[in-house]
Amino acid sequence: MEGNNNFEKANFRSIIELDGLDKIQDRLKIIDAFLSTEEHITVEQMCRLLKVKGCAYEPGFVRQCMNRMVDLGFAQKEQFEGQPVRYEHRHLGRHHDHLICTRCGKISEFANEEIERLQVEIAVQHGFHMLQHRMEIYGLCSDCLAQRKPLMPLAMAKSGERVMIKEMVGGRVARSRMADLGLRPGDRIEIINNNGMGRLILGCGSTRLAIGRGVAQKIMVSSEKETSQAACGEKT
Ligand SMILES: [Zn+2]
Ligand SMILES: [Zn+2]
Ligand SMILES: [Zn+2]
Repeated sequence: MEGNNNFEKANFRSIIELDGLDKIQDRLKIIDAFLSTEEHITVEQMCRLLKVKGCAYEPGFVRQCMNRMVDLGFAQKEQFEGQPVRYEHRHLGRHHDHLICTRCGKISEFANEEIERLQVEIAVQHGFHMLQHRMEIYGLCSDCLAQRKPLMPLAMAKSGERVMIKEMVGGRVARSRMADLGLRPGDRIEIINNNGMGRLILGCGSTRLAIGRGVAQKIMVSSEKETSQAACGEKT
């Protein structure tokens, strides 16, 4: 890997020297820092990385240098939806696509021969000659997915369980029943008794409430136990 970086750096140097560019040493420091990371990196992050390595450069100079690397085929410029411009290594003869998490911004890479082949096939079917493409898949990464608290109807909560009220899925009647009971989204409640039939007995603050199973079907809750376990990383 390191050997490969040295090759890329020497390759870059020979071209910028031929071009008669100034500040060769500074530009070499910038490509060095860039090659040292595998991230999809922004100019701002590049400046921070360079600073750690003892080089303080103006963002404008770093950006210009990065764009030169793009022109010369050493870097690839990306702009994913809702994110700043990023740069990543351009490995000649190798291609990959991206999965972008819309919650935390994490970018993952994938390469799939079948998808690549299909894209060419589709282009050909349209009498189209494909030169390049981008495949970007937006969604939630596995970490964000794991953090998302699953919702269940209150009627499914077990006796002894503590839950948080998230939302009401019922109509006006259920809503007004919930309001009558003084229950609101965000309230933490304890299931004192739910035997699977008839009404449920809940502990809400210092009050015990009896609510019908029908209403309990329409109150969506998340389990507090699951969230605290996930937060502590407890193993079962
Ligand atoms: Zn692709
Ligand atoms: Zn994420
Ligand atoms: Zn990438």
